[in-house]
Amino acid sequence: MRRVLSISLLAFLAAAATAAQSLPERSDRVVDYRISVALDPVKHVLTGRQTLTWRNPSTTDAVSELQFHLYLNAFKNTKSTFVQESGGQLRGAEMATDGWGWIDITSIATSAGADLTPTLAFIQPDDGNKDDQTVARVTLPEPVPPGGSVTLEMAFTSKLPQVFARTGYKDDFHLAGQWFPKLGVYEPAGMRGRETGGWNCHQFHANSEFYADFGTYAVDITVPSDYIVGATGERKRERANGNGTTTYTFEQADVHDFAWTADPDYVVVKATFSATQDVSPAEYERTAKLLGRTLDEVQLSDVDITVLLQPDHRPQAQRHIDAAKAGLKYYGLRYGRYPYKTLTVVDPAPGAGGAGGMEYPTFITAGSAWLFNFWPFDRIRLVEEVTVHEFGHQFWYGMVASNEFEEAWLDEGFNTWSTSKAMVEAYGADATIMEFLGFRMSDRDMSRASNDRAGRYNRILAKSWEYTPPGAYGFYSYYKPALALATLEGYLGEQTMARLMRTYHERWRFKHPRSEDFFALVNEVTGQDWSWYFDQVIRGTDIVDYDIGSASTRAVRTSQGVFDAAAGRRTVSSSDADEKDLEIERAKKQIFESVVVVRRSGGVKLPVEVAFKFEGRPVERQTWDGRDTTRRFRFERPEKLEWVDVDPDRTIALDVNWLNNGRRLTPDSRPAASWTARWLFMLQNVITTLGLL
Ligand SMILES: [Zn+2]
Repeated sequence: MRRVLSISLLAFLAAAATAAQSLPERSDRVVDYRISVALDPVKHVLTGRQTLTWRNPSTTDAVSELQFHLYLNAFKNTKSTFVQESGGQLRGAEMATDGWGWIDITSIATSAGADLTPTLAFIQPDDGNKDDQTVARVTLPEPVPPGGSVTLEMAFTSKLPQVFARTGYKDDFHLAGQWFPKLGVYEPAGMRGRETGGWNCHQFHANSEFYADFGTYAVDITVPSDYIVGATGERKRERANGNGTTTYTFEQADVHDFAWTADPDYVVVKATFSATQDVSPAEYERTAKLLGRTLDEVQLSDVDITVLLQPDHRPQAQRHIDAAKAGLKYYGLRYGRYPYKTLTVVDPAPGAGGAGGMEYPTFITAGSAWLFNFWPFDRIRLVEEVTVHEFGHQFWYGMVASNEFEEAWLDEGFNTWSTSKAMVEAYGADATIMEFLGFRMSDRDMSRASNDRAGRYNRILAKSWEYTPPGAYGFYSYYKPALALATLEGYLGEQTMARLMRTYHERWRFKHPRSEDFFALVNEVTGQDWSWYFDQVIRGTDIVDYDIGSASTRAVRTSQGVFDAAAGRRTVSSSDADEKDLEIERAKKQIFESVVVVRRSGGVKLPVEVAFKFEGRPVERQTWDGRDTTRRFRFERPEKLEWVDVDPDRTIALDVNWLNNGRRLTPDSRPAASWTARWLFMLQNVITTLGLL
């Protein structure tokens, strides 16, 4: 009875404290796309028409120009910025002559009938590469007033590339991503720190992902009737056209992109995520308590899951479903319920791995291989890792829609950190990537494996095409931010971190935050100024490394020599001293002097704990502010120092080397772990090379 009372009191207090925090129900719906598209599966060409309505979100600016992303032109020829940046070739010889991709706006007019086609022009806001055709602008006959809107009638033709990066075809398999002319984001003054209003519409770069406004989509997709179609949103209608084709209509609100797939070979596997059966009352209660929210606020809703699987991968169906459910549960509980009714998980065709490991609203592509049906590869949780990760993007890229061109870490980094947490929750700590033959490896091990002393020339906070070399993008937008968030959690503790991330998600769901918004929220939630941390770790280039410079422990010897005293001068010879020392030793009254020098070998200065273990005593801890390059600790104790460990809980995940954090003063029997590190690094490279995250 008392317990019940205290729980309801807690719930009441939590509700009072968080009344203003409830989850936004919908987005601002700046855009409305009504698209009708037909697939030619032989030529891999999409013929489309779209009616697009854009509302001017500014309260002050009249806008007379619209800017569009034409992403598929990245694959048009070797002069595009995308191909230039990714090394001047598209998969070398594999790029057949029909493998190129492109998109043409064949006509564009206002709903009032004004033809805008003659005003259509390519622009290159990022690099001035005149050959790049991934951004176009049109000029309106009259400006759209603040709060006003304009409707355009457009026709376009898209040629999908042979699967290369995120989109394309492989034989009958078609993954249509970035396939229609998509508006950039008009950012009014004040939005994301802008001083004056203007379009944010970046070219497609080798490393960049996406940024677009929220809105509503209704898309008619016409394909040969034997093709199986999956897409963003809910399937509302299906119509046989009597000519061997079928048209499927999909609709979804509060998303900022739309992708679809068509392939006659898919095995369709359906499942339901049940908010009552897949999550226990105890799990809801635990979450509500952790987050300081009411049970209502953490309640999830049911979701229809569709897995479109390659026939060869049939044994992995349940793994995809379990992973999707693990994602729906973890992310939903932690950040707020998944607001959509559907989730489609696509398993790309063999040889189309480039389309795997990608996120679109309510629609993700996973990654698998026939090999993963069998031992020991079935023990590598790659299917799970990729599915959970891509699903997790629904909560960052999808709903907390930061600008991935400019601040990729807010998506990939946050999601890599969240994936790691979700995997631990679902599959256990230390064994989230794989567990066989006694070898266990966690997601965090993966991130740590790429963190080394060489990685100090870039900063996390950079535009995605600015990293040098371009490959550094992976470390600086995925792994280092994930380690930075893990380290932050080490300082804040699990509960504060969980509440911080919940609040960040709630406040920015269906909006476009930037890094400063997150930094400000950390200060707000903790009531402290954390700029010292973000300045060094997110804006800075240096590394973190704490180690033990030296450690010694030895008996204090009896002093020798000539000593002045009231009774007169006294000489202690070395043999007198030795005798005295022997006496002390026999009586077990020795005093030991222990001296430890802890070093900061990296440029980043973080406060750190140091643990000291003396013989027969409990572990003692001291905190060092970590500002100087060294700190000397000296003790005189009746006990010998057994070992010393800097950052004993390994909370500073950013530390480039944990092997030098501890020093044992008695002989060390622990095995060297460097082979493990090398192995992790190799596996991580494999996963990165497959482009699966
Ligand atoms: Zn990702």
